[in-house]
Amino acid sequence: MTLAPNSPEARDIAYHFHSYTDAMAHAEQGPQIIEHGEGVFVFDNHGKRYVEAMAGLWSVGVGFGEDRLVAAAAEQMKKLPYYHNFAHRAHPAAIDLAEKLVTMAPVPMSKVFYTNSGSEANDTVIKMLWYRSNALGKPEKKKIISRNRGYHGVTIASASLTGLPNNHRSFDLPLPGILHTTCPHYWKEGRDGESEEDFATRCAEDLDAMIQAEGPDTIAAFIGEPVMGAGGVVVPPATYWEKIQAVLAKYDILLIADEVINGFGRTGNMFGCETYGIKPDAIVMSKQITSSYVPFSAILLNDRFYEPIAEESGRIGVLGHGYTGAGHPVGAAVALENIKIIEERDLVTKSAENGAYFREKLSQFARHPMVGEVRGVGLIAAVELVHPELGDTLPAGKLGAAMNKLLFERGVISRAMMDAMAFCPPMIIEREEIDLIVDAFADALTELEKMDF
Ligand code: PLP
Repeated sequence: MTLAPNSPEARDIAYHFHSYTDAMAHAEQGPQIIEHGEGVFVFDNHGKRYVEAMAGLWSVGVGFGEDRLVAAAAEQMKKLPYYHNFAHRAHPAAIDLAEKLVTMAPVPMSKVFYTNSGSEANDTVIKMLWYRSNALGKPEKKKIISRNRGYHGVTIASASLTGLPNNHRSFDLPLPGILHTTCPHYWKEGRDGESEEDFATRCAEDLDAMIQAEGPDTIAAFIGEPVMGAGGVVVPPATYWEKIQAVLAKYDILLIADEVINGFGRTGNMFGCETYGIKPDAIVMSKQITSSYVPFSAILLNDRFYEPIAEESGRIGVLGHGYTGAGHPVGAAVALENIKIIEERDLVTKSAENGAYFREKLSQFARHPMVGEVRGVGLIAAVELVHPELGDTLPAGKLGAAMNKLLFERGVISRAMMDAMAFCPPMIIEREEIDLIVDAFADALTELEKMDF
């Protein structure tokens, strides 16, 4: 590839170290540069249009180019561009948003703690859990159970919660005291003759056995996404959450719901916890809280979680934790306006209805020889690719990478989670736009079949 020395592509290769990218391959192939967005579409620097079928990173819920969010940010910037919440200080946007989040929470919640990203929020949750156990005089109660293929971020502690090998490999992770239990993916993990509900029972038994082996008094919390996102859009089997919660209740273990992807309508309800009857002690929110127009995250804690922490801060004289950007006024103002848009336009119902349409359309591929499973809930879905002859002998991720490229060439941005093609478009998507994704997928699948692997 020859690039003009001053082209944006050449300068990107020269100066920009990318997240989640093979740096050596990047130096060869260069970037795809997205310049602007409108609704469900983004446009590259050559003017080509793409359907953003991943809403960026599962996050631009209200779509690109939403003027109301721009106006909310500009107005707040003029009024008070920055303030913090250290040492008893507050500003109206942070108070308004905290009240709104507690009011709209799917289960009784007490307080909101602000952070800047999903990773930072989960990192903070771990610190809060440790602080709480010390406050309760249970210093041994520190371990946290997460799940294989769960995704909770990339800071040292949140990457430890993440149950994906590439987030640990060469980083010397996970940290001790963070454990991973069975991934609730029936299609992959279920045994011959085992029903979905029996598989859910086995997941709960695995969790119970892990708790017993580690010592119930050493476990502080269990964390999970209601529907796993980055692990491949794993929709839990029927009765899974009910059985998991019964185990946690037996041992007085807190439950943390990571709603970073699920929250604000994605699963067809405002929160994934509603979709699956989950009653957590804390909820982690980010991404669709501001439709990612501004980095922002928040943790909702119930009294059971919050009270011992508050009391310990009273004994010490301060909670020695907090971020400069926490509850940023611009982020809080954008979040409030974003939630207002989601409510006014009833994007939750739209996500449920158009999600059902999308999954129905995708189900036509279920019997294709190169498709192992079509799965999803609300407006989040995945199509798992398989090779009919090569099967598991083909390195994981090969089919996904090829399909990603084929879709991109056809003007659709998806994301391959190994060989699962994920779809999580903006919640404003219309049926004609869903058809564009499905038609491109059908065409790309025909092409994929012809390829040699
Ligand atoms: N939790 C979940 C469920 C996520 O999907 C993500 C990111 O994809 C994170 C946490 C981490 O968020 P961030 O990338 O903002 O640190």
